[in-house]
Amino acid sequence: MLRPLYNPFALSVAQRSRSAAARRNSRKIPRTFDRAPAMKLAPLAALPLLLATGAASAADTPSTNAKVDAALPQITAWRRDLHQHPELSNHETRTAQLVAAELKKLGYDVRTGIAHTGVVGVLKGAKPGPKLAIRADMDALPVTEQTELPFASHATGEYLGKTVGVMHACGHDAHTAMLLGVATVLAQLKPALPGEVMLIFQPAEEGAAPGEEGGAPLMVKDGVFKDFKPDAVFGMHVRSAMPVGTVAVLPGGELASSDTFRIVIHGRQSHGAQPWAGIDPIVVGAEIVVDAQTIVSRQLDINKQPAVVTFGIFNGGQRFNIVPETAELHGTVRAFDEGMRAQALKSLRNIAEHIAAANGATITADIPLGDSNPVTYNDPALTARVRASLEQALGREHVIETARWTASEDFPYYGQALKTPSVYFFVGSTALGIDPATAPVNHSPKFLLDEGALAVGTKGMLQAALDFLGYKGG
Ligand SMILES: [Zn+2]
Ligand SMILES: [Zn+2]
Repeated sequence: MLRPLYNPFALSVAQRSRSAAARRNSRKIPRTFDRAPAMKLAPLAALPLLLATGAASAADTPSTNAKVDAALPQITAWRRDLHQHPELSNHETRTAQLVAAELKKLGYDVRTGIAHTGVVGVLKGAKPGPKLAIRADMDALPVTEQTELPFASHATGEYLGKTVGVMHACGHDAHTAMLLGVATVLAQLKPALPGEVMLIFQPAEEGAAPGEEGGAPLMVKDGVFKDFKPDAVFGMHVRSAMPVGTVAVLPGGELASSDTFRIVIHGRQSHGAQPWAGIDPIVVGAEIVVDAQTIVSRQLDINKQPAVVTFGIFNGGQRFNIVPETAELHGTVRAFDEGMRAQALKSLRNIAEHIAAANGATITADIPLGDSNPVTYNDPALTARVRASLEQALGREHVIETARWTASEDFPYYGQALKTPSVYFFVGSTALGIDPATAPVNHSPKFLLDEGALAVGTKGMLQAALDFLGYKGG
């Protein structure tokens, strides 16, 4: 059975029931979220009916919000189509074709084939103004869907030599659909729009397969900004841990940096009964693991930000009575401050080298291993502006300051590449009536996005973009 889902189109029912005075005062759609009835997901066939209901609420909302409402059936249809046809990282060909075709229809200058399947669309407003880039990610995950959605994915793909189920278990279908929604309204506003907008549809945010390049760093390397230097970059992500209707943002370090590392310890093999005849890489590895705990507990200034050093793999040895030749450690370092990140990585190398040397061993250290993400750092001044825009579009009570989160993103590569400020916010996606704390998380085969998030994310991002560009109305 389907879980109860929030229905974005049902808002107008609650809104129409309010007095005319309340209606005049209310320009913030999500205020009615707590009154929205829990409903089963409407099948696509019911969309026209719901659209008619949704259109009736337009008078209550800012004109740009109403334009999102008008585009919502199309945004929802895009999302469902993408959900049903998910594609793994670096294989987003169908998705890219859909995106490019829609952007062309809307009048954007379109470039394709960036970082394999990436698409960008540029819209020049009729008036001079700043330049803004907004990014959505397009890839799905090697996860076999376990929802009962009528448009659930039955797709399969090849991953690490195996046939796997493919699912939009991280909500990138919603991100792509919402950015197309933003594209739709911006195109309508073009005659009165200042500045220029680049919409970035990025492949492989979840990480390219081993041995492949991909994602934001490859977009940058492939020249996404060669003809367009944005003054700011915006991004957003749906999140199961927050209820639909809520958006969240944090100034400063919001998501952690992520650095994978590998340390190979080279000892000397000997009989386990005669360890003095060899150099034991397992003992050296154990000392490195223990001493590395002092990076966070004794070396980093945790008044600034927290950090994490985790060893996830410790491999070594074949037989109980053989001191092996080598041992391997793999792990991850997370930080919320680029300085602390650099210090943690340097300390880890220092500890590994010196402990190895003290025991007569040597190491080969890949610190980092090469698939890193920087800190997702929200420029504080720009975040304050974006937060005001989100409050304007969605109502102040629906915008919260999120806690920092040790997950990571490749989004910050864009801002870092140009030393341009960026802001990244979260859009709640768990249906009302379900505890977000226990709802299936992003990447779960049961991850279930409430489609009310589509209206919220599109309206929030649109308002943030319009305010940044200095749009004053048509
Ligand atoms: Zn993900
Ligand atoms: Zn994601």
